[in-house]
Amino acid sequence: MKGDARKNAAGTARPGLKTPWTTHRRHPERGSHDWETIAAILDEGVFCHVGFSVDGQPFVVPTGYGRDGSVLYIHGSSASRMLRALSRGLPACVTVSLIDGLVLARSAFKHSINYRSVIVLGSPRPVTGDEKLHGLRIITEHMARGRWQEIRKPSAKELKATAVLRMDIDEASAKVRSGGPLDYDEDVDRAVWAGQLPFLLVPASPVPDDRLREGIALPPYLAQYARPQREAGRPSPDP
Ligand SMILES: Cc1cc2nc3c(=O)[nH]c(=O)nc-3n(C[C@H](O)[C@H](O)[C@H](O)COP(=O)(O)OP(=O)(O)OC[C@H]3O[C@@H](n4cnc5c(N)ncnc54)[C@H](O)[C@@H]3O)c2cc1C
Repeated sequence: MKGDARKNAAGTARPGLKTPWTTHRRHPERGSHDWETIAAILDEGVFCHVGFSVDGQPFVVPTGYGRDGSVLYIHGSSASRMLRALSRGLPACVTVSLIDGLVLARSAFKHSINYRSVIVLGSPRPVTGDEKLHGLRIITEHMARGRWQEIRKPSAKELKATAVLRMDIDEASAKVRSGGPLDYDEDVDRAVWAGQLPFLLVPASPVPDDRLREGIALPPYLAQYARPQREAGRPSPDP
């Protein structure tokens, strides 16, 4: 697989990611094409939304994914509309959003959400053979790192019922909003609470399956579960 080899010598820049389609126009100061920022958001995200259009009707479908270097893998039933449509080479837009909190301003107009998000444009294509199995491993490991080595691998019948698509991350952007409300000066003396309500994605206690065999301990990767987190180079908020 490609790994992170597409980084240039400077380490993080991937000039090709920025195209006319992925050039931020609204709040460009929140935008980024930095590879580390994009990769960090993709790794922390749990699921994505895949947008595509069939016969002029747009669909935006939430689904799982996994990243291997500069490749995204998504999978699903071979019979699903999304997988069938995208297997034909339709252009798609994959979005991953992380919600970092609510921004509660003194005016309705200045309310906002703190977020980190990535948009990837491209045409996914189906993979087969070893890469299909590899894609399934990447998607499974994206849920819980360490899981793949413990579980039963897909049978030939299960593989046939599953389609796996790869989408090269060649055209992409990130956008990050952080910080507090950007109230107008004339509003700051208003008698209303203002600030941020941070959100964290944290797991609750694992719930063992009713049919779990006795004596099976919770694996460490679930006992200490956390989404992979890296500092995603947050630009400062707008003035
Ligand atoms: C959780 C969340 C809540 C949001 N709430 C609002 C809201 O209430 N109102 C609002 O106007 N906007 C909101 N945004 C920002 C929104 O995603 C868009 O950035 C914004 O609406 C500008 O859209 P546009 O099409 O004019 O962007 P443009 O700047 O014209 O988009 C051009 C290109 O910039 C890139 N880009 C734009 N937005 C993003 C993004 N979010 N992530 C990655 N790349 C991006 C894409 O490559 C896109 O094709 C929110 C974002 C998130 C993640």
